[in-house]
Amino acid sequence: MATQQQPATGVEKKPVPIVAYLHLPESPDDEPYLWGNKCKSCGAVYVGSRMACSKCSSSELEEIRFSNVGEIWTFGVVHQSMPNVPTPFVAAIIDLPEGASVRATVTGLDPTQPDPAWFGKKVQMYLEKAYTNKQGDDIITYKYRPVEGS
Ligand SMILES: [Zn+2]
Repeated sequence: MATQQQPATGVEKKPVPIVAYLHLPESPDDEPYLWGNKCKSCGAVYVGSRMACSKCSSSELEEIRFSNVGEIWTFGVVHQSMPNVPTPFVAAIIDLPEGASVRATVTGLDPTQPDPAWFGKKVQMYLEKAYTNKQGDDIITYKYRPVEGS
């Protein structure tokens, strides 16, 4: 461990997305969003990056940006998680209008009172700091909460 490069001091820490397919805003007018790949040949949609389409094996994929509002397709209540993650919480699969779905935590719903009315509920994505890593960078995750009035 003699000549390891030391971290520069006075450099502004940049937030780091917890997954590669989460875009963090880079300027005040930029918005966070999830992105994925869409097959140009058959239209299949994937979260994140793909080398080839698993439906038709085409390698002609284009990047697409997902909307920040989706609908709860299904959900469960998690009672045990990693240390430092408060339980219970609602974990859901969110259908996005572009044809993909993502797994995410949903806040703003009472996990002790699960309700079938949550199926199909409109939810909005937001960012939250998940933790700070050993280098001192803030790791940013995405969660969802119900859209007001839905
Ligand atoms: Zn395809």
